[in-house]
Amino acid sequence: MPPKFVRAFIGIIIVLVILTSLFVFHEPTRTYLDPSTGNVYDDESVHKTVDNKPPIRDFGGGVIMPKLGNETAKRALGQAAWKLMHTMTLRYPENPTSDEREALKAYFHLQARLYPCGECAAEFQQLLVKLPPQLRKTSSRRSAALWLCHVHNEVNKRLEKPIFDCAHLDSTYDCGCGDEPILDSRESDTGLDGVLPIKGGR
Ligand SMILES: Cc1cc2nc3c(=O)[nH]c(=O)nc-3n(C[C@H](O)[C@H](O)[C@H](O)COP(=O)(O)OP(=O)(O)OC[C@H]3O[C@@H](n4cnc5c(N)ncnc54)[C@H](O)[C@@H]3O)c2cc1C
Repeated sequence: MPPKFVRAFIGIIIVLVILTSLFVFHEPTRTYLDPSTGNVYDDESVHKTVDNKPPIRDFGGGVIMPKLGNETAKRALGQAAWKLMHTMTLRYPENPTSDEREALKAYFHLQARLYPCGECAAEFQQLLVKLPPQLRKTSSRRSAALWLCHVHNEVNKRLEKPIFDCAHLDSTYDCGCGDEPILDSRESDTGLDGVLPIKGGR
């Protein structure tokens, strides 16, 4: 049995080692999660981004535009809007990142506020409650495209229009866009006015 003071000395060393390793390896104690960005901040700056925890944003809110009385305008607007949305989901990434998923979800929630036909927007808001674009719905191009097709069919049902066969999405919305990579904005290949030339298309 070592003398008492040796045991006390060893005990102090062990406590010091534990305290030092806590100080070195532990995350800064004054960190907080910004719910609007999903970033974890410490005293200095962004400490790290929580990768597998998507940013929590609230896009809730009422319909912004008034009623659209003109039926012809409403029809034309609807056709253009559906075309835009279906083409978007069919060109959405096959394997989107959590940021891209968040962007798509945000788009539909904001569309349900800002759609220029107020009464259509109100209906769309209710539809998003019933069929929210969360979870698996934005997890791939296929899921997003099929989800939107389903949503459009719900509107078709309400308006007593024919139900669309979602197996024909690809052929109906073949935009002929080509698949050239998006121009890297860091390239110096700018036009005379400094605007990047548009690539892609056939
Ligand atoms: C969010 C939203 C809400 C709307 N709410 C209303 C409303 O409350 N009242 C109102 O009068 N109008 C509303 N509209 C407009 C309406 O949906 C139609 O766009 C409009 O009536 C014109 O109809 P359409 O028969 O030309 O075909 P659209 O429904 O405009 O469809 C255009 C084309 O898309 C294809 N298509 C049809 N169904 C699908 C599907 N499920 N998936 C993929 N492609 C499909 C077909 O080729 C069709 O010709 C809304 C539009 C939007 C975008």
